[in-house]
Amino acid sequence: MTAERDLIIALDIGGTHFRVMLTGLDHRLRQHIRKHTRAAEGPQAVIDRLVAAVNDVLGGRNHRRVLGVGVAAPGPIDPWQGVIHNPPNLTGWDGLPLRDILHERLGMPVWAGNDANLAALGEHRFGHGRGVDNLVYLTISTGIGGGIVSDGKLLLGEHGLAAEVGHMVLEPTGPACECGRRGCLEALASGPAIARRASERIAAGEPSQLASIVGPSGSTLTAEQVVEAARHGDRVASEVIEQAATYVGLAVTSLVHLLDPALVVIGGGVSNAGDLLFEPLRRTVQTHTMPIYREGVQILPTALGDDVGLWGAVALVADNVGASES
Ligand SMILES: [Zn+2]
Repeated sequence: MTAERDLIIALDIGGTHFRVMLTGLDHRLRQHIRKHTRAAEGPQAVIDRLVAAVNDVLGGRNHRRVLGVGVAAPGPIDPWQGVIHNPPNLTGWDGLPLRDILHERLGMPVWAGNDANLAALGEHRFGHGRGVDNLVYLTISTGIGGGIVSDGKLLLGEHGLAAEVGHMVLEPTGPACECGRRGCLEALASGPAIARRASERIAAGEPSQLASIVGPSGSTLTAEQVVEAARHGDRVASEVIEQAATYVGLAVTSLVHLLDPALVVIGGGVSNAGDLLFEPLRRTVQTHTMPIYREGVQILPTALGDDVGLWGAVALVADNVGASES
């Protein structure tokens, strides 16, 4: 007798934490765990922890009930073969055939995708994007990533590398980016970019509540500290966040003109800045977008919080096994 297949497992692998979720075809959350990735120990040790965590969420349930495992991986990944390309926060993972390794270790079908791409899919299927055929998702945290759902389908591109919105060049002579070029959106508006810009201005002598933290040593702030200071009316902090939001707004303007979305969803830690980010962002899009496009384009924070990538991984499995929503 074969067990009925009715379970889906989702993994979201981050540089600091990974998350594992077990859910059913009814998409009711069943089990959810978060653990430290400890990426410095290398891919073998991390994969051992992932496999152990999958077994933990399954508990005593029969492995044969699992329809598949969806994996949201950081950085570029070949979405067809599941091979990782040089992820920024996972040293030693370049060229790793993640999908095949997990398939072999778990004995279950595995599908993988870029985490920000899958976040767009998650928002489309389970968040604000339900019933919307065209949406853009941006995550703004340590880096800036994106995903695009166009005419109801996740846009992958020729090499599966579509929607790297963080590397749209907005200032060709701007600050250096992790990708080796200059003036990318990520170098202008990510969490570290916000922290760096505020630190520079305060170190140059501008008055700020944060001056005691930066001090004469010029030590670097965090984006959270800048947001907190802006909430308390700090001028430098407010201006730095407004400037980052304006850059995001310019990038969103181009995305609106390119893709004509109904909805732009913003996630990632910096989106917790709330109106400090969203007001100047919406204002910039309103100012620079052609009137015919901007009618009805909504710009919203993610409905799914930190789990948006996990829900995208669930949708990836459901799509691949042809399981319809119940
Ligand atoms: Zn870049």
